[in-house]
Amino acid sequence: MNKPNRSTVLIVDPEQTKSIEVNTRLLRYLKPTLIGLSIATIVLGIGVVSLAIHSYTTAKDNQSLRQKVGDLEGFTSAEVNAKINELRKSEKAVLELQNYLQERGVYNAPAQPPTDDSKPNNAAGGPALKISASMPFMGSFAQNTQNLLEAAKKLPLGVPAPTEISSRFGNRFNPFTGGGGEFHPGLDFRGEIGDPIKSTASGVVNFAGYQNGYGNVVRISLDNGYEILFGHMSEIDVQQGQTVQAGDVVGKVGSTGRSTGPHIHYEIRKDGAPIDPEPFLTLSAR
Ligand SMILES: [Zn+2]
Repeated sequence: MNKPNRSTVLIVDPEQTKSIEVNTRLLRYLKPTLIGLSIATIVLGIGVVSLAIHSYTTAKDNQSLRQKVGDLEGFTSAEVNAKINELRKSEKAVLELQNYLQERGVYNAPAQPPTDDSKPNNAAGGPALKISASMPFMGSFAQNTQNLLEAAKKLPLGVPAPTEISSRFGNRFNPFTGGGGEFHPGLDFRGEIGDPIKSTASGVVNFAGYQNGYGNVVRISLDNGYEILFGHMSEIDVQQGQTVQAGDVVGKVGSTGRSTGPHIHYEIRKDGAPIDPEPFLTLSAR
């Protein structure tokens, strides 16, 4: 007997029953087809879920990277801005320094050194001390401009008169004879009798009077261990105890005391010991 190639499927419903005729071969393949479709659906579902997880992770990574880039950009610009601010501050300090030096009448060009001190000198003098070991190096100005400005305000700077140096600090020949040897504890500036002598720093006059070797002399104490001294004056224009500002006239050029001719004997003392004033005459590189 031949297998019928068509089957009747009954759909039973509480209210009515329907019957449909379908191809019997289709019914035979229905179960494996349904199973295959279910497996395919599960596999696809797993794929979709993994993709979603992957996508979520990538998005999180991207967000984290963006955050890091943002942070780096912020860091870089903060660093650059800080440097620019530093530069601006330095620029401002340099301007303040220039103004400060101009206001007190500091001369920029270094005074000319004497050509030869092995001959009698008509503008030199000061006490003749014993020649000793060379003076210690005083160190350089502060490293940054801000410190430099603060330091400059506390240091003797510039020259007492815009003239030339007639005798330098250190060992020299006797200016009266051009022979022998002596230690010169300051700088001599050539001048004319009556020329004004300006203070190179602000401070308090601790001595104004006559002193052997120095003649009429003014000594000014700074508040940082420095002392400045101007000797051989023809006239003293300040009194002991008086406060003077840098640039104030403290006296007039003369040739009093141990002096071969009109000049200013200028000393800078640090903690009581004379040091070479030449590095203090100008801030220019030499
Ligand atoms: Zn001198």
